[in-house]
Amino acid sequence: MIRIDSVTKRYPDGTVAVDRLSLEIPDRSITVLVGPSGCGKTTTLRMINRMVEPSEGTILIDGKDSRQQPVNTLRRSMGYVIQNAGLFQHRTIVDNIATVPRMLGWGKEKARARARELMERVGLDGSLAKRYPYQLSGGQQQRVGVARALAADPPVLLMDEPFSAVDPIVRKGLQDELLRIQDELGKTIVFVTHDIDEAVKIGTMVAVMRTGGKLAQYAPPAELLSN
Ligand code: ADP
Ligand code: ADP
Repeated sequence: MIRIDSVTKRYPDGTVAVDRLSLEIPDRSITVLVGPSGCGKTTTLRMINRMVEPSEGTILIDGKDSRQQPVNTLRRSMGYVIQNAGLFQHRTIVDNIATVPRMLGWGKEKARARARELMERVGLDGSLAKRYPYQLSGGQQQRVGVARALAADPPVLLMDEPFSAVDPIVRKGLQDELLRIQDELGKTIVFVTHDIDEAVKIGTMVAVMRTGGKLAQYAPPAELLSN
């Protein structure tokens, strides 16, 4: 479990991005952080993998202060997916996905075999393996981003507006795919979006944040107050 315990982030210019936030993120759930632009969602996500350090408060991973483990170990246990996939433009699809296993010391063929297996898992046709990112649609690129984040089989996936740049129909397909993956693999997913409909559709738990980085509500979708 990830426990965010009274965490505040104040950037050097004085901006309070997150204000005394406390959240318990259950294992094997999709916990969605939702709220207007600038309310501190990305900052919260980045504090979980220590791309941003909290100014106050503690983040506990399975009961242990996240600062107690080496940052590389922490990040290896957390796949990260961003809005425009952030793919390596000069690597083929299969090699994009194989990047992390390669970094972990896997041989090229083993890493590629793993990548092909993941392509299938995220609904990408194997014929796309040797293409480059620019030859794929936005929705396909996001699938590659998800596959790459899953490559080292991390228990946690951090997803920052992963489906926001694709059209509504493709987006619905990606949401369904994520629910299926979650069901099959049981990852702990923290998912950032500004779209309340998306939050309600995919969230096991929904954390509604408001401007100033405060938590307004934290509940399963069916129990969210409608205002
Ligand atoms: P993302 O890629 O998740 O959208 P960004 O790094 O682009 O995140 O920034 C998210 C928000 O933080 C944006 O509103 C951006 O304007 C703001 N931001 C990012 N860096 C700075 C900075 N150095 N100073 C002020 N605001 C920033
Ligand atoms: P969200 O993801 O909800 O859009 P962010 O976490 O990106 O919100 O940003 C929260 C607040 O912190 C915003 O006011 C943003 O401009 C500010 N911010 C984000 N990154 C920085 C930064 N590096 N320096 C200063 N302010 C920042």
